[in-house]
Amino acid sequence: MLYNKGIGTLEETVLLKPDLTGDKPPGEKREKILTIAIDGPAGAGKSTISMIISKALNIIYLDTGAMYRAVALKMISKGIDLDDRAGVISALEFTDIQIKYDDDVQRLLLDGEDVTSWLRAPKISEAASKVAEIPEVRIKLVDIQRQIASENSLIMDGRDIGTYVLPDAPLKFFLTASLEERAERRWKETDTKDIDQDYDSIKRSIMERDYNDENRSFSPLKKSEDATLIDTTGKSIEEVSSIILEYIHRYLERRRGD
Ligand code: C5P
Repeated sequence: MLYNKGIGTLEETVLLKPDLTGDKPPGEKREKILTIAIDGPAGAGKSTISMIISKALNIIYLDTGAMYRAVALKMISKGIDLDDRAGVISALEFTDIQIKYDDDVQRLLLDGEDVTSWLRAPKISEAASKVAEIPEVRIKLVDIQRQIASENSLIMDGRDIGTYVLPDAPLKFFLTASLEERAERRWKETDTKDIDQDYDSIKRSIMERDYNDENRSFSPLKKSEDATLIDTTGKSIEEVSSIILEYIHRYLERRRGD
Protein backbone atom coordinates (compact mmCIF):
# COMPACT_ATOMS: atom_id res chain seq x y z
CA MET A 1 0.00 0.00 0.00
CA LEU A 2 1.28 3.43 -0.86
CA TYR A 3 0.37 6.34 1.38
CA ASN A 4 2.72 8.80 -0.18
CA LYS A 5 4.89 9.02 -3.21
CA GLY A 6 8.19 10.79 -2.87
CA ILE A 7 9.12 14.34 -2.07
CA GLY A 8 10.69 17.36 -3.69
CA THR A 9 13.04 19.72 -1.93
CA LEU A 10 12.93 20.48 1.75
CA GLU A 11 11.57 23.92 0.88
CA GLU A 12 8.61 22.33 -0.89
CA THR A 13 8.03 20.15 2.14
CA VAL A 14 7.90 23.25 4.29
CA LEU A 15 4.98 24.44 2.20
CA LEU A 16 3.09 21.43 3.40
CA LYS A 17 2.66 22.87 6.85
CA PRO A 18 -0.39 20.90 7.84
CA ASP A 19 -3.76 22.19 8.72
CA LEU A 20 -5.83 19.28 9.91
CA THR A 21 -8.95 21.29 10.37
CA GLY A 22 -8.76 23.65 7.41
CA ASP A 23 -7.88 23.32 3.74
CA LYS A 24 -6.12 20.18 2.62
CA PRO A 25 -2.97 20.57 0.55
CA PRO A 26 -3.78 20.63 -3.15
CA GLY A 27 -3.48 17.28 -4.93
CA GLU A 28 -0.17 17.99 -6.61
CA LYS A 29 1.48 18.87 -3.32
CA ARG A 30 0.10 15.77 -1.66
CA GLU A 31 2.47 13.84 -3.92
CA LYS A 32 5.36 15.45 -2.09
CA ILE A 33 4.36 14.52 1.39
CA LEU A 34 7.29 13.49 3.59
CA THR A 35 6.69 10.55 5.91
CA ILE A 36 9.06 9.52 8.67
CA ALA A 37 8.41 6.51 10.91
CA ILE A 38 10.05 6.14 14.33
CA ASP A 39 9.60 3.03 16.44
CA GLY A 40 11.12 1.63 19.58
CA PRO A 41 10.42 0.73 23.21
CA ALA A 42 9.42 3.15 25.98
CA GLY A 43 12.14 5.60 26.94
CA ALA A 44 14.25 5.12 23.81
CA GLY A 45 13.92 8.84 23.06
CA LYS A 46 11.29 8.67 20.31
CA SER A 47 9.09 11.55 21.38
CA THR A 48 11.86 14.01 22.25
CA ILE A 49 13.68 13.30 19.01
CA SER A 50 10.49 13.36 16.94
CA MET A 51 9.58 16.75 18.35
CA ILE A 52 13.00 18.15 17.42
CA ILE A 53 12.85 16.69 13.90
CA SER A 54 9.31 17.96 13.36
CA LYS A 55 10.40 21.49 14.32
CA ALA A 56 13.53 21.33 12.17
CA LEU A 57 11.53 20.26 9.11
CA ASN A 58 8.36 22.18 9.91
CA ILE A 59 6.20 19.07 9.69
CA ILE A 60 3.81 17.63 12.26
CA TYR A 61 4.70 15.12 14.93
CA LEU A 62 2.08 12.46 15.52
CA ASP A 63 2.52 10.72 18.87
CA THR A 64 0.48 7.52 18.42
CA GLY A 65 1.08 6.40 22.01
CA ALA A 66 -1.22 9.23 23.12
CA MET A 67 -4.04 7.59 21.16
CA TYR A 68 -3.62 4.24 22.97
CA ARG A 69 -3.39 6.16 26.22
CA ALA A 70 -6.67 7.94 25.44
CA VAL A 71 -8.46 4.65 24.81
CA ALA A 72 -7.08 3.40 28.15
CA LEU A 73 -8.30 6.56 29.88
CA LYS A 74 -11.75 6.08 28.43
CA MET A 75 -11.95 2.48 29.66
CA ILE A 76 -10.71 3.39 33.13
CA SER A 77 -13.12 6.31 33.43
CA LYS A 78 -16.01 4.06 32.38
CA GLY A 79 -14.94 1.42 34.92
CA ILE A 80 -14.38 -1.18 32.23
CA ASP A 81 -12.16 -4.12 33.20
CA LEU A 82 -9.26 -4.13 30.72
CA ASP A 83 -9.26 -7.93 30.69
CA ASP A 84 -12.87 -7.88 29.49
CA ARG A 85 -12.14 -7.67 25.78
CA ALA A 86 -15.77 -7.70 24.73
CA GLY A 87 -16.47 -4.81 27.12
CA VAL A 88 -13.53 -2.80 25.78
CA ILE A 89 -14.56 -3.46 22.18
CA SER A 90 -18.15 -2.40 22.76
CA ALA A 91 -17.11 0.82 24.56
CA LEU A 92 -14.67 1.47 21.72
CA GLU A 93 -17.58 1.81 19.33
CA PHE A 94 -18.70 4.89 21.27
CA THR A 95 -15.21 6.36 21.59
CA ASP A 96 -14.25 9.33 19.48
CA ILE A 97 -10.55 10.11 19.16
CA GLN A 98 -9.41 13.26 17.40
CA ILE A 99 -6.05 14.91 17.03
CA LYS A 100 -5.57 18.62 16.68
CA TYR A 101 -2.57 20.92 16.78
CA ASP A 102 -2.35 23.99 18.93
CA ASP A 103 0.77 26.03 18.18
CA ASP A 104 2.27 22.87 16.70
CA VAL A 105 1.60 20.91 19.89
CA GLN A 106 -0.52 17.80 19.56
CA ARG A 107 -3.73 17.82 21.58
CA LEU A 108 -5.87 14.75 21.99
CA LEU A 109 -9.65 15.09 22.07
CA LEU A 110 -11.42 12.15 23.65
CA ASP A 111 -15.15 12.31 22.95
CA GLY A 112 -14.71 16.01 22.27
CA GLU A 113 -12.78 16.78 25.48
CA ASP A 114 -9.09 17.75 25.51
CA VAL A 115 -7.52 15.07 27.73
CA THR A 116 -3.87 15.65 26.73
CA SER A 117 -2.72 16.53 30.23
CA TRP A 118 -4.19 13.35 31.71
CA LEU A 119 -2.39 10.91 29.47
CA ARG A 120 1.08 10.57 31.00
CA ALA A 121 0.12 9.12 34.40
CA PRO A 122 1.84 5.76 35.14
CA LYS A 123 -1.52 4.02 35.58
CA ILE A 124 -2.46 5.10 32.05
CA SER A 125 0.88 3.86 30.63
CA GLU A 126 0.21 0.35 31.91
CA ALA A 127 -3.43 0.39 30.86
CA ALA A 128 -2.45 1.62 27.37
CA SER A 129 -0.16 -1.33 26.91
CA LYS A 130 -3.09 -3.64 27.78
CA VAL A 131 -5.64 -2.09 25.45
CA ALA A 132 -2.97 -2.02 22.73
CA GLU A 133 -3.08 -5.83 22.64
CA ILE A 134 -6.64 -5.78 21.32
CA PRO A 135 -6.68 -5.89 17.50
CA GLU A 136 -9.96 -3.93 17.28
CA VAL A 137 -8.37 -1.07 19.22
CA ARG A 138 -5.32 -1.07 16.97
CA ILE A 139 -7.35 -1.17 13.78
CA LYS A 140 -9.46 1.81 14.82
CA LEU A 141 -6.41 3.89 15.77
CA VAL A 142 -4.32 2.84 12.78
CA ASP A 143 -7.11 4.03 10.49
CA ILE A 144 -6.89 7.51 12.00
CA GLN A 145 -3.08 7.45 11.86
CA ARG A 146 -3.06 6.50 8.17
CA GLN A 147 -5.65 9.12 7.38
CA ILE A 148 -3.52 11.86 8.95
CA ALA A 149 -0.39 10.55 7.22
CA SER A 150 -2.13 10.57 3.84
CA GLU A 151 -2.73 14.31 4.11
CA ASN A 152 0.26 15.69 5.96
CA SER A 153 4.02 15.60 6.00
CA LEU A 154 4.81 14.10 9.35
CA ILE A 155 7.02 12.20 11.70
CA MET A 156 5.01 9.50 13.45
CA ASP A 157 6.28 7.54 16.43
CA GLY A 158 5.02 4.36 18.04
CA ARG A 159 5.69 0.63 18.07
CA ASP A 160 4.39 -0.57 14.70
CA ILE A 161 4.71 2.46 12.44
CA GLY A 162 7.40 1.08 10.14
CA THR A 163 6.07 -2.48 10.14
CA TYR A 164 2.32 -1.95 9.96
CA VAL A 165 0.96 1.59 9.96
CA LEU A 166 3.19 3.05 7.22
CA PRO A 167 5.10 0.16 5.65
CA ASP A 168 5.96 2.30 2.62
CA ALA A 169 7.45 5.18 4.59
CA PRO A 170 10.72 6.08 2.87
CA LEU A 171 12.42 6.92 6.16
CA LYS A 172 12.20 4.53 9.09
CA PHE A 173 14.17 4.55 12.31
CA PHE A 174 14.17 2.14 15.22
CA LEU A 175 15.48 3.64 18.45
CA THR A 176 16.67 1.52 21.36
CA ALA A 177 18.59 2.08 24.59
CA SER A 178 19.53 -0.08 27.57
CA LEU A 179 16.71 -0.81 30.00
CA GLU A 180 18.61 1.02 32.76
CA GLU A 181 19.05 4.17 30.73
CA ARG A 182 15.44 4.16 29.56
CA ALA A 183 14.22 3.77 33.15
CA GLU A 184 16.52 6.56 34.29
CA ARG A 185 15.23 8.92 31.59
CA ARG A 186 11.63 8.25 32.61
CA TRP A 187 12.53 8.67 36.26
CA LYS A 188 14.10 12.05 35.55
CA GLU A 189 10.98 13.08 33.62
CA THR A 190 8.75 12.24 36.58
CA ASP A 191 10.62 14.75 38.78
CA THR A 192 9.33 17.64 36.75
CA LYS A 193 5.83 16.23 36.48
CA ASP A 194 5.51 15.50 40.17
CA ILE A 195 4.42 11.91 39.70
CA ASP A 196 5.28 9.83 42.71
CA GLN A 197 7.27 6.91 41.31
CA ASP A 198 10.66 5.49 42.17
CA TYR A 199 13.31 4.22 39.75
CA ASP A 200 12.67 0.51 40.45
CA SER A 201 8.94 0.67 39.88
CA ILE A 202 9.50 2.63 36.66
CA LYS A 203 12.01 0.00 35.52
CA ARG A 204 9.57 -2.81 36.32
CA SER A 205 6.75 -1.06 34.50
CA ILE A 206 8.94 -0.51 31.40
CA MET A 207 9.95 -4.19 31.43
CA GLU A 208 6.33 -5.25 31.57
CA ARG A 209 5.35 -2.89 28.76
CA ASP A 210 8.29 -4.07 26.63
CA TYR A 211 7.15 -7.64 27.18
CA ASN A 212 3.52 -6.88 26.26
CA ASP A 213 4.53 -4.82 23.23
CA GLU A 214 6.99 -7.39 21.89
CA ASN A 215 4.81 -10.43 22.47
CA ARG A 216 1.31 -9.42 21.42
CA SER A 217 0.13 -11.40 18.43
CA PHE A 218 -1.22 -8.50 16.35
CA SER A 219 1.34 -5.97 15.16
CA PRO A 220 3.97 -6.33 17.92
CA LEU A 221 6.91 -4.02 18.57
CA LYS A 222 9.54 -5.10 16.06
CA LYS A 223 12.17 -3.42 13.96
CA SER A 224 11.10 -3.21 10.36
CA GLU A 225 13.78 -4.82 8.18
CA ASP A 226 14.33 -1.59 6.28
CA ALA A 227 14.51 0.63 9.38
CA THR A 228 17.78 2.20 10.53
CA LEU A 229 18.66 0.99 14.01
CA ILE A 230 19.98 3.64 16.39
CA ASP A 231 21.10 2.69 19.89
CA THR A 232 20.70 5.89 21.89
CA THR A 233 22.44 4.56 25.04
CA GLY A 234 25.00 7.15 26.12
CA LYS A 235 24.06 9.49 23.28
CA SER A 236 22.74 13.00 23.78
CA ILE A 237 19.46 14.19 22.28
CA GLU A 238 21.46 16.48 19.97
CA GLU A 239 23.63 13.59 18.74
CA VAL A 240 20.67 11.36 17.94
CA SER A 241 18.66 14.08 16.25
CA SER A 242 21.59 15.14 14.11
CA ILE A 243 22.19 11.51 13.00
CA ILE A 244 18.53 11.27 11.97
CA LEU A 245 18.49 14.68 10.30
CA GLU A 246 21.55 13.66 8.32
CA TYR A 247 19.67 10.60 6.97
CA ILE A 248 16.67 12.75 6.11
CA HIS A 249 18.74 15.36 4.29
CA ARG A 250 20.54 12.67 2.31
CA TYR A 251 17.20 11.19 1.35
CA LEU A 252 15.89 14.58 0.25
CA GLU A 253 19.05 15.14 -1.81
CA ARG A 254 18.52 11.81 -3.56
CA ARG A 255 14.90 12.64 -4.34
CA ARG A 256 15.94 15.96 -5.73
CA GLY A 257 18.36 14.17 -8.03
CA ASP A 258 15.71 11.73 -9.31
O1 C5P B 1 4.63 5.59 23.39
P1 C5P B 1 3.84 5.51 24.66
O2 C5P B 1 4.64 5.08 25.83
O3 C5P B 1 3.04 6.75 24.93
O4 C5P B 1 2.76 4.37 24.37
C1 C5P B 1 1.89 3.87 25.37
C2 C5P B 1 1.57 2.42 25.06
O5 C5P B 1 0.77 2.38 23.87
C3 C5P B 1 2.79 1.56 24.74
O6 C5P B 1 3.31 0.91 25.89
C4 C5P B 1 2.26 0.55 23.77
O7 C5P B 1 1.74 -0.58 24.44
C5 C5P B 1 1.11 1.24 23.09
N1 C5P B 1 1.42 1.66 21.74
C6 C5P B 1 1.31 0.73 20.74
N2 C5P B 1 1.50 1.09 19.44
C7 C5P B 1 1.84 2.35 19.13
C8 C5P B 1 2.00 3.32 20.14
C9 C5P B 1 1.81 2.93 21.45
O8 C5P B 1 1.01 -0.43 20.99
N3 C5P B 1 1.99 2.67 17.85
